[in-house]
Amino acid sequence: MGKLRPKRIVDGFSKAISGTTPDFTESRKEICGKCEFKKETSLGNKCGVCGCFINEKTRVMEEYCPKGKWKDIQTFSGKGVSLQNQSPGYCNLKYSESTNKMNLVYKEPIKMDKPIVLKLLLVNHLGDLVPAPKNDTLEITSIKPSCPCISVTETDKRVIHEGDTAHLYIGHNAAQRGKFNKKVRIQFKNHPTLSINVSGEVV
Ligand code: SF4
Repeated sequence: MGKLRPKRIVDGFSKAISGTTPDFTESRKEICGKCEFKKETSLGNKCGVCGCFINEKTRVMEEYCPKGKWKDIQTFSGKGVSLQNQSPGYCNLKYSESTNKMNLVYKEPIKMDKPIVLKLLLVNHLGDLVPAPKNDTLEITSIKPSCPCISVTETDKRVIHEGDTAHLYIGHNAAQRGKFNKKVRIQFKNHPTLSINVSGEVV
């Protein structure tokens, strides 16, 4: 068991007891409800892959589906890092195992000169990896968009400790009409680079 899991289990149970239901919980529960890995037990439904109780697991923002089925949070396979989509009204987020990239797609065309900035949360759960890496702190060294039309606003922090999170704001300047497909590369001191594809259309 990773170092972080116990903390999140406690968090899930305390949220369930207090009736705290974050806005992403219902869609996660709906997906778990139809999942072939769901297991019914006398104490409640469990995820058959990670063994967590679904009612509690789905309330914890940093939790993720081990099969990548949830829509609000996606995990870079085997890298101990997830991205949560905090602008679900404006974009979809999906990890591609074959390209090892996140795909961030604007749902609707952006109006010329009316840029929409997308909000993401970077989650460090390196401590979940077994064995956990020696250095489980993420230290961002650079964030490089492939084109000046893409803006990445400074995160609120550059050092993200195990179990911690940081915001990323990714936007397009909407200065030129047409479809776009750009990349954002996030580099770390002691961790492989993460790539995010950003695509959409300006009309
Ligand atoms: S967390 Fe994922 S794998 Fe587990 S029951 Fe839910 S949808 Fe299925």
